[in-house]
Amino acid sequence: MSLAANLFSTLQRLENATDEAQRPAPRLLAVSKTQPAAAVAALAAAGQRAFGENYVQEAAAKVRDLVELSLDWHLIGHLQSNKADVAAQIFDWVETVDRVKLVTALARHRPADRPPLNVLIQVNIDDETSKHGCTPDQVPALAEAIAAEPRLQLRGLMVIPTPYPDAALRRPAFQHTRALFDALAAQYPQVDTLSMGMSDDFAIAIAEGSTQVRIGTALFGARV
Ligand SMILES: *Cc1c(COP(=O)(O)O)cnc(C)c1O
Repeated sequence: MSLAANLFSTLQRLENATDEAQRPAPRLLAVSKTQPAAAVAALAAAGQRAFGENYVQEAAAKVRDLVELSLDWHLIGHLQSNKADVAAQIFDWVETVDRVKLVTALARHRPADRPPLNVLIQVNIDDETSKHGCTPDQVPALAEAIAAEPRLQLRGLMVIPTPYPDAALRRPAFQHTRALFDALAAQYPQVDTLSMGMSDDFAIAIAEGSTQVRIGTALFGARV
């Protein structure tokens, strides 16, 4: 199947899930980690605008190669503080902010000639000690720190639940994150993005209120 065909069938599956759940359509973030710039360009030619990358270095090369396409680039991988300067320059969104140190570094390095950097707080909803993301009770303080930075725009939350093989077991994590998101949106009117759901669980995430799904495999095929 061509990438364009994958895109159309994925959009169709999103629409089906959206209809079934009677929810507004989420944004599709095409996760392009490990994929060459040519594959990103092919999806862009078919109409896809938003792309997710996990590694700053890898993304920097693609952003540079494809600068003329004016795509929307989201960082969805863990961000080390020493890469915050590059991340603040090349991305439109950073979805993995989980500590105040990162807030300060991103704000300091966001170039003055670019719009404020869109930021999501990554929540470690299942309390896995080995994983990244802040705890649910750290969200309010982190949100306050982000909202105080004019070079950053707080847009919402991102979550990666424990990848139980049975995707239905991820539903409680989605529900918990949705509750946190509603509380945040009630306090900050600019908060409009709940990033949850991947190739194998997006239907459940949409039913639980996702506004953005992050999909790699279903679009590009298995990663090599
Ligand atoms: C790789 C990745 C995805 C996409 O996963 P697929 O199963 O390929 O759809 C989504 N979110 C994050 C954070 C990822 O690292």
